Order: sequence, then structure tokens, then C-alpha cells
Amino acid sequence: MEQENCFAVPLVSDVNREVYARKIVLATGIQGSGEWTVPEHIKKNIPKDYYYQTSEMIDFAKITGKKVGILGGGPCAFDNALQCCEHGAREVHLFFKKPKLVNLHVFLWGEYSGFLKNFPSLPDQDKWRLIAKMIEIGQPPTPQGFAAINSKKNVFKHFTSPWLDSKMLHEHPTVITPEGEISLDLLIIAIGWNVNLSLREELKAFHHQIALWSDRFVAPPHQHYDMLLNSPYLGKGSNFQEKIPGTAPYLNAIFNCTGGAFLSTGFNAGTGLTGMKYSIKSVVQEITNQLFLDNIDYFYQSLATYHDYIFDNSTN
Ligand SMILES: Cc1cc2nc3c(=O)[nH]c(=O)nc-3n(C[C@H](O)[C@H](O)[C@H](O)COP(=O)(O)OP(=O)(O)OC[C@H]3O[C@@H](n4cnc5c(N)ncnc54)[C@H](O)[C@@H]3O)c2cc1C
Repeated sequence: MEQENCFAVPLVSDVNREVYARKIVLATGIQGSGEWTVPEHIKKNIPKDYYYQTSEMIDFAKITGKKVGILGGGPCAFDNALQCCEHGAREVHLFFKKPKLVNLHVFLWGEYSGFLKNFPSLPDQDKWRLIAKMIEIGQPPTPQGFAAINSKKNVFKHFTSPWLDSKMLHEHPTVITPEGEISLDLLIIAIGWNVNLSLREELKAFHHQIALWSDRFVAPPHQHYDMLLNSPYLGKGSNFQEKIPGTAPYLNAIFNCTGGAFLSTGFNAGTGLTGMKYSIKSVVQEITNQLFLDNIDYFYQSLATYHDYIFDNSTN
């Protein structure tokens, strides 16, 4: 039967319909195990008209003559700051969490086949220390973005200035940092993505049954990183595992190729293009392996009734 042992997947598009699949690959992007991050206090205190997240289509025409605040110190923050300058922003304020800009690019460090290919077979302890170190180092702006921003007179850099809180003050979004308060006209949030499977509509029915790193690994006390602890603890083909063995065996047939796979599989498809040449092979290998094992009775029957004779032996 077409639907036997299948997931029923509702598709919402021009025509709503349901399709059936034995295996599912989630390739929904770097943020596909969570969402692009916006601080909770911004969501709560600032009306949406006053802020953008960098993955949104930003209406730069609105920026002319404005005083813009950008949160983040990576390439998106610098590129958006430059766009604001080019669209006639009056002032651009960049707010960084760290006391200095990051000037190491850990994704360049990892561009060798030893790391790209073999990361998934490391013991958990080694996966953790490598990825935790990358998170601690952080993401740099591009050298071009850095140089371009340094030549602008109307860009102000605020170091050690995370946004601790925010409020609307006389119709201006106002951010509170360890330096004090600063009122702006518009905010741009450039602090990347997070991992939280409970936010994903497609996982709504069973996300609580998926094993996370926090279920399988005890992080060192100084490295309590929610993004890593909330990451799904994936199998060798990037497939989900059950939180409690025996309670949701179907999870094995759902493959996660999003940014959430970073800690389990390294620079996989979701987080970097260069790891794809290895990670896609391991996903395909696991899918074909499962399909063969799932259907072994069928293959046995096919052998037992096999009758493609290669010669006629009735006369010997
Ligand atoms: C700012 C930025 C810079 C980057 N720079 C680099 C770089 O320099 N080098 C590098 O190797 N990698 C880089 N990456 C990572 C790179 O973009 C990803 O590794 C690559 O795009 C992943 O490809 P993908 O097909 O898995 O996901 P994507 O290219 O993100 O595609 C995901 C697709 O899934 C769709 N989708 C999402 N949710 C659903 C849903 N519920 N239903 C249906 N469709 C859905 C989306 O619309 C999208 O089309 C960068 C990422 C970002 C965000």
C-alpha cells in the first residue's frame, strides 16, 4: 500500500495536499532547527515597525536621515551598517558584546578535508570542545566590511555593549547597555540563529521525543551554551534519535540537515557549503541502508520467487 509505514506530510502551497514519505530530509537552512534570534526584550518592548532582523527584506529607503542601531559584530552587522550609510543614514551605531572585534575566521580554519570528512566520527567530548571553541571565538566581519566601515565618519562602535533591555521613549526605540541608554530611530538585529526544536511547526507533534545533546552529554560548567545543549543529538546519517529508546522509533527516519546538526556533524549542509560533499553522502548512505533493512522481507520474497533463469537445465 502506498501509505504503509509512511509519514503523512501536509503540504501548504498553492494547492494544499498531503504526501506520503518513508524518509524525510529537513534541509530548511541554517536556522531550520530554531529561528533567527531577536532578543526577547525587543520582541516585548519594541513595536515591529521599529526593528528588522537581518534575514528580513529591509526597506533601506526608510533609513535616509535616520539614526540606526545595529546589534552584532559579524559580517551581517557590518554589511547592513554599510548599506545604511549608502542609503543616507544620519548615524549608524554598532553594538558589540565583546571588548574587541573578532578577527579570526573559524570557518576558514575548518576548511580541510580531515575536519570536514571525519568530524562526525569524533567522540562526543571532542565534538563538543571543537564546536564550543568555535562559538567562543565567534564570527568576524569581512576584512572588506571592516575597512569600509572604518572609513565612515557617521558610524559609531560601542564595545562591551550588549543590549541588556529596551523601551520606547518619545516614539524612539531605546536600548539599554552597560554604557547607559541610547535612543535611536530604527534597530537592526544581526546576532544570527538559535536552536530550539519546539519553535518548528513541522516538528510540533513530536519535538519533545527527540534526543538533544543535553540528554546525552554533560557540558563543562563554564560552557553552558543553550544553542549547543538544545541541538538534536543525531545519528550517523544526521537522523534524529529517540530521547527515550523505544518510544518513537520513527524518528530514526527523519534526517536533520540544518544548522541544528552543527554539533553532531560539523560543517554539514546547513552550516557550510564545503561540508556538503561529505555530509550528503552520509545521509544518502543511511537512507539507502534503512530502506534495504526496512524491506528485507520483501527482498527475501523476491529471492524466494526469483525465476530469471540464465539457461534451460531441463535436459542437463
Ligand atoms: C549570512 C550567511 C552567510 C553565509 N556564508 C557562507 C559562506 O561564506 N560559505 C558557506 O559555505 N556557507 C555560508 N553560509 C551557510 C550556507 O548558506 C548554507 O550552508 C547553505 O545555504 C545551506 O544550504 P541549504 O540548501 O541546506 O539551505 P538554504 O540554502 O538555507 O535553503 C533552505 C530552503 O528551505 C526552505 N524552507 C525553510 N523552511 C521551510 C519549510 N517549512 N517548508 C518548505 N521550505 C522551507 C527555504 O525557503 C530555503 O529555500 C552562510 C549563511 C548565511 C545565513
